[in-house]
Amino acid sequence: MGKECYPSAMGWSAVGVDVGGTKIRAARVVDGRVVGETFRATPPDDPTMVMGAITDAAAGVHDGRCPIGVGTAGQVDRHHGVVLTSPNLPGRNVPLGAALEEAFSVPVVVDNDVRLAAVGEWLALGGEPGVLVALYVGTGVGAGVVLGGRVLAGVNNLATEAGHATFRSGGELCGCGRRGCFEAYAGGRPVVERLARRIGSGQEAPVHVGGVVELAERGDPAAREVWEEAVEAIRTLAWNLVVLYDPAALVLGGGVVRGVPELAGTIREHVAAQVWSGFLQPRVVVGSPDAAVTGAAYTAWKEHERG
Ligand SMILES: [Zn+2]
Repeated sequence: MGKECYPSAMGWSAVGVDVGGTKIRAARVVDGRVVGETFRATPPDDPTMVMGAITDAAAGVHDGRCPIGVGTAGQVDRHHGVVLTSPNLPGRNVPLGAALEEAFSVPVVVDNDVRLAAVGEWLALGGEPGVLVALYVGTGVGAGVVLGGRVLAGVNNLATEAGHATFRSGGELCGCGRRGCFEAYAGGRPVVERLARRIGSGQEAPVHVGGVVELAERGDPAAREVWEEAVEAIRTLAWNLVVLYDPAALVLGGGVVRGVPELAGTIREHVAAQVWSGFLQPRVVVGSPDAAVTGAAYTAWKEHERG
């Protein structure tokens, strides 16, 4: 190990894996850039099959030597490489890190996907922002904060679980069991489900956020209500993160941000419209689609290098 992870004069090298709800992406990353990648469908219902698919995807790009970083939604015991709970990996306490270490005989890091992606966003901006906040709105809502190149983890590796901060006290029931979380209003899945509940059985409800937005734009009152509340939740959370962390950059990502291009502008305007705008002027940008895999790879390499 060690020096082999610096192939030729290119820089550092590692494999990053992003375990999504429908697909697994594994990428060979050299010096922050994706140089090869494989995809596998995420098998439903069976953690052993999901681990098999992750191993298979990683094998497609692994060189037999370099460390592997894996990101997945949910709560991860980073020290033991155990996925405690994840919507993308059924079951509880799945020993993903140990399984991959056994399969590849290299160091493996497993962590929450958005926190790893925040590191990838920091890399994509040249590793410059001293304070960077990544806000990801996809199926769920998550955030990651990078301070001086290191992601803020917290005591339980649960820092900046921003999707589960309170938007409406006592409000909508969230998938986490609490009421009123930002995610319960802004997450892609909750948005679709909220509209389906309002529409009832008489009309076909959209299955993606894009469909909800389209319906809202056509003037459907239920779709407008649901989408406007989602936007309010997202921009409120964005501002909260800005005033909490005073970042140089607020980087937006996730399927909802990518699927609704005007959302980034709405957030940018909201942040700029605050009376604090004379003091807090972060760059508000849409992030890199590679951040999840580059951040996972970099974190694994960095940890390995640190020994
Ligand atoms: Zn919640």
